[in-house]
Amino acid sequence: MNQRIEAVRKIIKENRLDGLFITKQQNWQYLSGFTGTNAILLFTPFDNYFITDFRYLEQAHLETEGFHIVEPRTLVEDTLVDQVNGLGLTRVGFEGDNLTYTQYVDYKEKTPGVELVSLNQAVEKIRQVKDDREITALRKAVSIADMAFDYILNFIRPGVSESEIALEIEHFMKKQGAQKSAFDIIVASGRRAALPHGVATDKELAAGELVILDFGAVFAGYHSDMTRTVVIGKPDPDQKRIYDIVLTAQKRALDTLKPGIRCSDTDRAARDFIRAKGYGANFGHGLGHSVGLEIHEKPALAPKDDTVLQPGMTITVEPGIYLSNWGGVRIEDLVLVTGSGCEVLSASPKELLVL
Ligand code: ZN
Ligand code: ZN
Repeated sequence: MNQRIEAVRKIIKENRLDGLFITKQQNWQYLSGFTGTNAILLFTPFDNYFITDFRYLEQAHLETEGFHIVEPRTLVEDTLVDQVNGLGLTRVGFEGDNLTYTQYVDYKEKTPGVELVSLNQAVEKIRQVKDDREITALRKAVSIADMAFDYILNFIRPGVSESEIALEIEHFMKKQGAQKSAFDIIVASGRRAALPHGVATDKELAAGELVILDFGAVFAGYHSDMTRTVVIGKPDPDQKRIYDIVLTAQKRALDTLKPGIRCSDTDRAARDFIRAKGYGANFGHGLGHSVGLEIHEKPALAPKDDTVLQPGMTITVEPGIYLSNWGGVRIEDLVLVTGSGCEVLSASPKELLVL
C-alpha cells in the first residue's frame, strides 16, 4: 500500500471512523493520481473506492491503482450516498473545510443514521512534506518561470502595457511545457507597484518606474511562484535604497530557514529588519506560503504560524515594501527545506536589474 493511502488509514483510525470521503480536487488528485475534474474518494478501514461520472470512467481505470471503481450514477454525490448506505457505514469523516453547508445538509438527509464527522486540513497535512516526485515537478515548474523571466527582460520597455507583458509571459511558459499560469500574472508598474496583488492592466510602462512581476507555471499539477522587481532606466536613490532593504530582508530570512525552525521565526527575521529600517507598516502581508498542488498551501511564513519546518516542505520567501503614490518592491523565491538548511529553487538574478 502506498504511503499516502497509509496516512489516510491513520486518519481513519485516529478519528475512530469507519469511512472517510474526500471531495477536494487537489486531495483526491494527490491520493489517487486521477487528473480529471470530477471525483470523490471513499475510504474504509480496509478498502478504497473511486467515484466519478461516466465521462471519466475510462480515464479512472487508466490513471488510478488500488481503488474499486464504483459503477457511476449521474451525480457523484448520489453514487457516494449509495455507497455509504450500501456498506452500512456509521461514522464517516468528510472535509469540513471543503463542503458547502448545502451539500452537508443534503448528505445528512440522504444518509440517515450515519454520523458525519467534520475534519479540517487532514489530507492537506499529509501534503505539506513533498516527496521526490513532487519535488521534481516543482523544480520543472520553477525552471519554466525562470526561463520566462529571462525571456521577458528583452520585452520590457517604455510604452509596452502590463497586460502585453503578462500575455507574453503566459504564452512563453506554455510553449516551454507549462499546463497553465499558476495564477493571474501580476505586473504592477509605477504607482501600481504599491498594490501587492496588482494584476496586469492596460497601463503602459514609463521610464523611471519600478515594475513588479509576480508569476509562476503549473507543471504536472505543481505550481511555481516567483517575484522580481525591475526598474526602467536608472533607479533613483530611494528606489535603490528600498530595493536593498527588501533584498537584505529576504537574505536574512533565507539564512534562518532550516528544519526545526518555526515559520514565525523566519517571518520575524525579515520583518524585524524591515521594521528597523522604518518600513514595518509598509510590509503588510506574510513573508511566504507553501506551494504544491495549490498555489497557497500551509504552513505559511507568518507571525502567527508556529509550524515547525521539516525537510521536504516547499515554501516562498517574499518580503515587500509598498508605499502609496510611490510604488513598491517585492522579491520572491521558492525554497525547498532540506535536511540541514534550505535550497533556493528559483535561479533568476536578484540584483536590481536596470532595463
Ligand atoms: Zn508570487
Ligand atoms: Zn507567493
